Amino acid sequence: MVPQLNRREFVALSSGALLAGLTGRLRANAGQAAPPTPVFAPVRRNVNTFTARGGTIGWLSNKDALIVIDTQYPDSARLCLDGLKTHATRPVDLVFNTHHHIDHTGGNGVFRAVARKIIAQAHVPELQKMAAAQTPNAEAPVLPDATFDQTWTEKAGDETIAGRYYGPGHTGGDAIYHFQRAGVVHMGDLLWLQFHPRVDRPAGASIQNWLKTLETVARQMPRDTIYIAGHAKQATPVTAGVKDVTGFRDYFDAVLSTTRKGIADGKSKAEVTASSLPQFDSYQSAAPALTLAAVLGVAYDELTAGK
Ligand SMILES: [Zn+2]
Repeated sequence: MVPQLNRREFVALSSGALLAGLTGRLRANAGQAAPPTPVFAPVRRNVNTFTARGGTIGWLSNKDALIVIDTQYPDSARLCLDGLKTHATRPVDLVFNTHHHIDHTGGNGVFRAVARKIIAQAHVPELQKMAAAQTPNAEAPVLPDATFDQTWTEKAGDETIAGRYYGPGHTGGDAIYHFQRAGVVHMGDLLWLQFHPRVDRPAGASIQNWLKTLETVARQMPRDTIYIAGHAKQATPVTAGVKDVTGFRDYFDAVLSTTRKGIADGKSKAEVTASSLPQFDSYQSAAPALTLAAVLGVAYDELTAGK
């Protein structure tokens, strides 16, 4: 039974439900979504996660260092920073960004006030500026203080963190961060767990190189590595093992082979994006951007570019 509601109540309910359904932990308009629930969770050997709203934050706390990877949005960054005062024993030393998206860098301003430095891959600042220029009423982005082209290595007490760029993937400026002694890798949005990912082609993404990156990382890292994902299906963990990394590689393999076959068969983009991948039916969607159709559309554009 549908309860009797007047039109205004119905619209309010529908748009609220729509907003919650579409955005979940991924993105939301500040002030309209339900307040985020902050969760601090241990991963392994002083590496932890923080989830509230936006991409997963990873953090390392030992007696000599407090390192934060990604900053979500200003409101959830504040929750993270407040919680770290009790969960950690010292102030924040360094912040790293995995990539430029606002749900990973929107809280940079909150951490800027306390951290010595914010560090990101070299393409991140220009991509932050580009994204802000394309977003109505966007605040000026808080840019990193230091950047790196290929690698950045940082000693943090008895831990070593190695940042690395593998070329275009989810955007044109994704880095992963390896906590080498803990055996934990923060993948940023190069890893989505059971979720149709955003592929930001205008920001330089490449599905083909993203697939290769997942293969390379899975091969290079020790087998028992724990991977932190930028996003995961609702009510599922944000950490995973190598099987989930190769499983996500298989997803892109299916996307690319379906798209290649469609193009070879003379199908239009609309026909290709209407394809299904039954083996990945369990993946969560969030329309309009985070759907199989959107990913197939990017694959079609990528594979037909310049042809
Ligand atoms: Zn992203």
